[in-house]
Amino acid sequence: MYEEEDFLPISALQHLAYCPRRCALIYLEQVWDENRFTTEGKHLHEDLHEGGAESRGDLRIVRGLRLHSFRLGLSGQADVVEFHRVDQPPGVALPEAAGLWRPFPVEYKRGKPKIEDCDRVQVCAQALCLEEMLQLPVSEGALYYGRPRRREQVTFADALRRETEALAARLHEMVAVGVTPPAQVKRACRDCSLVDLCLPRVGERKRSARRYLAAALRDLRGGGEVAQSEETA
Ligand code: SF4
Repeated sequence: MYEEEDFLPISALQHLAYCPRRCALIYLEQVWDENRFTTEGKHLHEDLHEGGAESRGDLRIVRGLRLHSFRLGLSGQADVVEFHRVDQPPGVALPEAAGLWRPFPVEYKRGKPKIEDCDRVQVCAQALCLEEMLQLPVSEGALYYGRPRRREQVTFADALRRETEALAARLHEMVAVGVTPPAQVKRACRDCSLVDLCLPRVGERKRSARRYLAAALRDLRGGGEVAQSEETA
């Protein structure tokens, strides 16, 4: 169990799942490259959180709900939590609404769906917070993407829950250690808004140069001795 002062943002999990270096650059080094896309995303979330509550028959929509989990040491704000009226438990009572209501978190994204699990991890973390706060199981939620406008259902299966919990533990560890991991060039770098600040290929060139020098020394000295010292470096 974490204390309230140790809480870390739920949104950091999304960055960590996308790339540990990106997460460290943002949360440890406070590096952020604002561009048209990140500004649009920020406005989208601000508008959603200010949208208030809405009632439509058997559906209640709450925007900007504050969430936390002492078990995972996370806090944040849900874009939307839908409450669907159900005939039987599990469900929660809502003020000024008869019956039981089942929560269903929905996270909005300005862009397109990603191959990585990062968005699913973020909405799963919101579900785990709701489960702890409301003491009832939350089995499904959704991601809403702006390009193309599409809602993707997310089932909070065991594997996704374990992944989310492991990332929360890793996030706390990273913040405690305070070290930004080196860059690893990957497909995600193409869409990363921090690519010009991270310069992932610079690290790669340094490693290539080191490998080249080590190989050259191995050739000169006949192999074994240098190979061993490189392995233990
Ligand atoms: S450019 Fe690549 S390595 Fe650097 S932060 Fe972005 S995803 Fe991570």
